[in-house]
Amino acid sequence: MKTIVVKYGGAAMEDLPLCVEVAGEIVKLSKGNRVVVVHGGGKEVTAFLNRLGVESKFIDGLRYTDEETLQVAEMFYSGTINKKIASLIQAHGAKAVGISGRDGKLARIKRVPNLGFVGEICSISTELIETLLGASYIPVISPISEEDNGQPVNVNGDEMARAVAESLKADLLVYLSDVDGLLISGKVIPKLLASEIKELVSGPEVTGGMIPKLNSALSALENGVGKVVFLNGTKPERLGQVLSSKELIGTAISLS
Ligand code: ADP
Ligand code: MG
Repeated sequence: MKTIVVKYGGAAMEDLPLCVEVAGEIVKLSKGNRVVVVHGGGKEVTAFLNRLGVESKFIDGLRYTDEETLQVAEMFYSGTINKKIASLIQAHGAKAVGISGRDGKLARIKRVPNLGFVGEICSISTELIETLLGASYIPVISPISEEDNGQPVNVNGDEMARAVAESLKADLLVYLSDVDGLLISGKVIPKLLASEIKELVSGPEVTGGMIPKLNSALSALENGVGKVVFLNGTKPERLGQVLSSKELIGTAISLS
C-alpha cells in the first residue's frame, strides 16, 4: 500500500467532464493505496475576481491576496471547488470528505512577506488526515488556512500539497496541471534530479505557476517524499498509469 498525494489544479478543473474523469482515476488509485487530494482552483478565482473588476496580481507564481481576494479565494477553494471534487469522487463510489487547512488545526502557517494574506506551511498535523484515511475516506484538502489568531490566509495549492506529502512521508506526490510536464524549449523533460531544480527556477525557461511547483517538489524530496511527478490533468488516464506504467509519462523528479 502506497501513500499518494495528488495536487489537482490547472485547466483540467474547469471542464466538468474532465473533472469527472479525474475523480474516477483518483478513486481507482485509492483502491489499495492511501490517497489524499489537495486542490488549487486559481483560474476560477481569477475569473470571478475579473467579474468583480478586481485584477489578479502574481509575484513569482504566488497570488497577491488582499482582503477581497482572500474572501473570494476562500469561497471558491473551500466552498465550490472543494465540495465539487469530494462530490465527484463520491459519485464514483468512494467516500470523500472535503476539508481545508483551517479544519482540525491541520496547518500551522507563517505569513509570506509582501504578498498580503498569504502564508506558507510551517507544519501539518496529520491527525485529521489519518483519522479519515483510517476510516476509508479520501481527504480532499483546500489550501486555505489560518493563523493562530484565526486570521484566514491564502496558501498556494502546490505548497499545501508538498507540506501534506512531507507530513505523511508520501511515496508519491503527483502534480496534475494543464501542461504535459516541465517544458524546456517546448519539450517535456521526462526525468529530473532534485539537484537540478534551483538552477532551472532561476533560469528563463521556468516562469509563473511552475516556480512554486518546482520549489515544492524540491522541498518534498529533501523531506522524505519518495518521488514527485508532474502530469497533465487534461489527460486523466495518465494518473492511472503513474504507478503501473514502465514508460515515463510527464516529468518524474527524484533525489538521485
Ligand atoms: P496549477 O493550477 O496546476 O498550479 P499554474 O498555472 O499555477 O497551474 O502552473 C502551471 C503553469 O506554469 C503552466 O500552465 C504554464 O503556463 C506555466 N509554466 C511556466 N514555465 C513552465 C515550464 N517551463 N514548463 C511547463 N509549464 C510552465
Ligand atoms: Mg499554481
